[in-house]
Amino acid sequence: MTNSPANAKDILLTFVGQAINKHPKRITALIAALMLGGGGGAFAVASFAPDASELPVREVLESVQALPLNAPSDLASPSFTLFRSEVTRSSDTADTLLKRLGIDDAAAAAFVRTDASARQILLGRTGRSVTAEASDDNRLLKLSARWSSDSDGKFNRLVIEKTAQGFRSRTEVAPLTASTRLASGTIQTSLFAATDDARIPDSIATQVAEIFSGDIDFHRALRKGDRFSIVYETLEGDGEPLRAGRVLSAEFVNGGKTFQAMWFKDPVAGGVPVVEGARAADSRSKGGYYTLDGESLRRAYLASPMEFSRVTSGFKMRMHPILKTLRAHQGVDYGAPTGTAVRSVGDGTVEFAGVQNGYGNVVILKHRNNHNTLYAHLSRINVRKGESVSQGQSIGAVGATGWATGPHLHFEFRVNGVHHDPLTIARESESVPVSPAAKPVFARLASENRMALSAAASMQQSSAQ
Ligand SMILES: [Zn+2]
Repeated sequence: MTNSPANAKDILLTFVGQAINKHPKRITALIAALMLGGGGGAFAVASFAPDASELPVREVLESVQALPLNAPSDLASPSFTLFRSEVTRSSDTADTLLKRLGIDDAAAAAFVRTDASARQILLGRTGRSVTAEASDDNRLLKLSARWSSDSDGKFNRLVIEKTAQGFRSRTEVAPLTASTRLASGTIQTSLFAATDDARIPDSIATQVAEIFSGDIDFHRALRKGDRFSIVYETLEGDGEPLRAGRVLSAEFVNGGKTFQAMWFKDPVAGGVPVVEGARAADSRSKGGYYTLDGESLRRAYLASPMEFSRVTSGFKMRMHPILKTLRAHQGVDYGAPTGTAVRSVGDGTVEFAGVQNGYGNVVILKHRNNHNTLYAHLSRINVRKGESVSQGQSIGAVGATGWATGPHLHFEFRVNGVHHDPLTIARESESVPVSPAAKPVFARLASENRMALSAAASMQQSSAQ
């Protein structure tokens, strides 16, 4: 498959849908077997073709095509070839890396030490995946490393190969291929503990928190027993996952209430002007997350003025440092390290940016319908009075200015001057539905995503038994 990740996503998702449709029992059994065997919460369904049983074969063939094994003809033919994979560590030397790969070859070690690209790419770096092929006496025949450093849909490959003239190295660029993974988990302590257990990359966990940020304030509202299922893209080079892609669909059960989302790029809104206004058309044509019933999850307001991350997730909600109570306090306090980015929860203009007594450095934004938001105790302010800001824009950073005993963000959502719960406001704010013309396409994708999500959820049931 030579699809770009963007196209591959749609096709693979279709495969997932079809495979689950046609072989529900087989898929569940396969998932159960993998879960019990591997113990992980995520696994690849990349290669689910319409007939799932054909798949492993396909995957092997693809790897071989992507990285041909051209053993030079004038080398003594080894009786068999050993393949080993490892991940580089920051402390690696040529010797320690080759040793972990099971290579015992002084010439190979000398080459890795002296060759400029081999040194630069392999040594002193964490987390690069390396594969070695060795002869039956543990001499290096070929070594390859893969990594993807930017988001252009490509990956880099270093190949060191034994030739008649000794070792040679070369670097190559090749397209990433997208595969789809299913994962699920239950919150015991924190979202990141659960996603770590399920071996879900941080960028996927953060995306899920962002996707549902209009409905769930992940800083405040997570409960033990909350559960999630995620269908996401992994971008691979030579069959190895090199970076996480986009969340394709997700389900989050928070406090017994189920929220679902799926990625959709409205093919109609992209080309044709939409009646309800430029902003609706614009947010549709870029693609975004929708409920499986076709309502956009992009709201007029985000529930939280800070992105949910591994850094901010460790902080509990604070009692007010001065009033020592949550009840008498008009606002929400988010504990976070000084310097954590603070973002505007909605589009608006800056009404005030500067110092006010107890608030310290404070930004007050004016939104439509007499709505104001206030961000206090900032260590830094990034905006000026009168400036317009868009939702999600960084307006400053967490600090401890004014009446604050420690770094935190004091946040208020005021409607006609009175503080309201930001989460309630966010949930009530308007959203944009999928365009009527795109409904049939949307409905088909939504039903495939429902099946994929329920397969992901059944993985967890299998693993829990
Ligand atoms: Zn406060």
